[in-house]
Amino acid sequence: MGNFKIGVPRALLYYEYSLLWIDFLEGLGAEVIVSSPTTKELLDLGVKSAISEVCLPVKVFYGHVMSLKDKVDFLFVPRMVCVEKGAYFCPKFLGLPDMLKSSLSPLPPLIEPTIDVRKSATNFKNAFLEVGKSITSNSKKIYCSFIQAQKNFWLYSAANKLEEGDLNQLQINQPINKSSKGEGISLNVALIGHSYLLDDSFVNLNLISKLKKAGVNILTAEMVSKKEIEKQLKKLYKPLFWTLSKKTVGAALYFLEKKIDGIIHLSTFECGEDSLVGEIIRQESHKYPSVAYTEFVFDEHTGEAGINTRTEAFLDMIIRRKIYESNHT
Ligand code: SF4
Repeated sequence: MGNFKIGVPRALLYYEYSLLWIDFLEGLGAEVIVSSPTTKELLDLGVKSAISEVCLPVKVFYGHVMSLKDKVDFLFVPRMVCVEKGAYFCPKFLGLPDMLKSSLSPLPPLIEPTIDVRKSATNFKNAFLEVGKSITSNSKKIYCSFIQAQKNFWLYSAANKLEEGDLNQLQINQPINKSSKGEGISLNVALIGHSYLLDDSFVNLNLISKLKKAGVNILTAEMVSKKEIEKQLKKLYKPLFWTLSKKTVGAALYFLEKKIDGIIHLSTFECGEDSLVGEIIRQESHKYPSVAYTEFVFDEHTGEAGINTRTEAFLDMIIRRKIYESNHT
C-alpha cells in the first residue's frame, strides 16, 4: 500500500494534528494529498452533503472530503475520543467516520484509527502503529516514523509559546499619539476559539488579516503553555471535560489576568460546547472590566460586511478607551 494516495481533509483536527499525521504517513512512504484551502465552492459542497443540523466546521469537513474522494485511494479520518485523562473530544469527532460512511457514497475506504487513551496509556502510539501495519510490513520503519513525527509535533507545539517576558513586552504602552484615529497606539488582542475557525481564513472571513492590517498584535491560545492553561482552569468552579474547550477557556483566563486590550472569541452556531464556553468566558470577563470582550458567531450565512463592522467597532472602542485613559492619567 506504500504507493497509494492517502487523502487528508484540511478541516477540523487537521489544524491540531496535521504535522503529526502527515509526517507519519509520509515517513511510511505513502503519498499524502491534503485538500486545498476552503473556498465557497467547497463549503457549498459540504452544505449540500451534510445534514443541515451539524455545525459549520463539520459541513466544511464534508466539503473537503467531497473534494478529495475521487483523487485518493484512502481517506485518513481518525476517530478522536480522548487524548488526556478526564477530558474528551466533542461527539462529532467520535462519530465522524460513521457519519461520512452513512451519508456519502461511494467513498474510498477510510483509515480510521480510534484514539482513546482511556483504554491504555499507550493507545495513542499503538493506534498509529496499527495504521502503519496497513501501509508497510516493516515494523522498524513504522516505529521510527511515529517517533520522528511525534518529536517534530512536540517541538513545533513548544516553539510558539509566549514567555512571561514576551507578554510584559507586549503590554508596554507605546507612546500614545492622541489623534482621534489612534495612530501610534499598540493594541494587543487575543483571538480564541477552535483552531479550525481561527486558522481557516475562509471560515473566519479573513479576520486575522483584517486585524493585522489594523496593526493589532494578535495573541492566540497556541502561545499559552499547557501548564499555564491547567493552572488557569483551576479557577473554575467545576472542571471542564472537553479537550478543545479547555484550551480556549484556559487561554482566555490567562489573557484576562494579563489585562491585554481585548479578546475576541470565535464560535460557531449549532455548537453546544461553544455556547457554554462563551458564557463562562463572558462571566469571567466581567471581573476584568479593562479587557474588552466580544464573541463572533459563525455559520454558513455569516457575511463579511457584518464581521468588518463589528471588528472596526471593537477596535474603535479599545482605542477610544486608551486615548481617554492616557488623557486622564
Ligand atoms: S466542538 Fe462544536 S464546532 Fe467543533 S465539531 Fe463539535 S459541535 Fe462542531
